[in-house]
Amino acid sequence: MIPRKKLIAGNWKMNKTPADGVALVRELVATVGKQSEVEVVVCPPFTGIESAGRALEGSTLKLGAQNMHFEASGAFTGEVSAPMLRAIFATHVILGHSERRTLFGETDEQVNKKVLAALKNQLRPIFCVGETLAERESGATLKVVQTQIERGLEGVAKDQAASVVVAYEPVWAIGTGKVATTEQAQEVHAFIRELLTKLFTEPVAQKVRILYGGSMKPANAPELLAQKDIDGGLIGGASLEARSFVELVTAAAAIK
Ligand code: PEP
Repeated sequence: MIPRKKLIAGNWKMNKTPADGVALVRELVATVGKQSEVEVVVCPPFTGIESAGRALEGSTLKLGAQNMHFEASGAFTGEVSAPMLRAIFATHVILGHSERRTLFGETDEQVNKKVLAALKNQLRPIFCVGETLAERESGATLKVVQTQIERGLEGVAKDQAASVVVAYEPVWAIGTGKVATTEQAQEVHAFIRELLTKLFTEPVAQKVRILYGGSMKPANAPELLAQKDIDGGLIGGASLEARSFVELVTAAAAIK
């Protein structure tokens, strides 16, 4: 079986002007822009995607967005579409991030439409799932994650499913400094892979990258990334500075 390439994706959220983003990308290009052991994706806010894309041209770094609408065009004020992202050479798009779900009311059904639209336009979805603290404490973690995955990936064809990247992000660990233990994370990742096996067959599930997200930092990354079913990280805070983000890429590259 071909080992899954580790993936480290930086979610800059609503941070950095285009100029700040270009400066960060230049530092990343200079340090990890030639390596190809780890797939590295940066996801600037919409205003900085195009300039970041130009700054990473010729390097191995890839470009992602943090959200998109599921329609291709039309009267959707404030939104951007998959073809628009493709036109500025984005290859990835984060979908269903917990901040989108909780602060902007995104439902599983909307996330599903976005996943299907991304795949139709050859954009790789980084599809986020995860439980809240109350859900974990009531023992509902696996059920919640199962529902989000079944609904979010409904209608995805078997031959497209390997292009999906799943990000398991316990909501209580995002931006809080509270990281899931390696056991907690690996348990959910293994459960997700088992579910993907049921939905899409074993060979497909073995190809899908499942990222961990939630206060991943250089100090805790090596242990998390060494887990059998943890194929990389979706990184918020630690992606905003070249030094910590590069350390995470280096940590992923060190796992054999
Ligand atoms: C995220 O927003 O996807 C995330 C994981 O954030 P942080 O690393 O800051 O917890």
